[in-house]
Amino acid sequence: MIRGSCLCGDVAYEIDEEKIVMMNCCHCGNCRKATGADYGTFIQIPPQDFKWLTGEESLTNYESSPGNHRAFCKRCGSTMPQRNDAWPFMVIPAGTLDADPMTAPKAHMFTASKAPWHTVDAAIPSATDMGAPEFWATIWPQAE
Ligand SMILES: [Zn+2]
Ligand SMILES: [Zn+2]
Repeated sequence: MIRGSCLCGDVAYEIDEEKIVMMNCCHCGNCRKATGADYGTFIQIPPQDFKWLTGEESLTNYESSPGNHRAFCKRCGSTMPQRNDAWPFMVIPAGTLDADPMTAPKAHMFTASKAPWHTVDAAIPSATDMGAPEFWATIWPQAE
């Protein structure tokens, strides 16, 4: 198990890093705004392999699109693990992990919306939009 936390430390969680389903970089405008970074790197993990440790009451969320609840700490604003009603996995902002998840991003998505100053790393595959199922099946077969 590895721990993650927000900037102020009020909120902490843990994940079972052996159960990580996917880790990808999202360049969509919503992820850029929510993280304040060039792009957001997120881990997908089954909800049962995730646990809040402290500070769940310090969370709030913003529904950036229908069913997508972007969670953040009320005190420090850090992006926190979140759910999308239409998605089976817990979405973990990788930058909030306190230890090495022992994996790395394997794809970029929504590169058509990338920050103008950012050069997308060509060492891993890219999808200009959310990516077709066939695209993801070759990259993260365990997600099927
Ligand atoms: Zn905080
Ligand atoms: Zn995104």
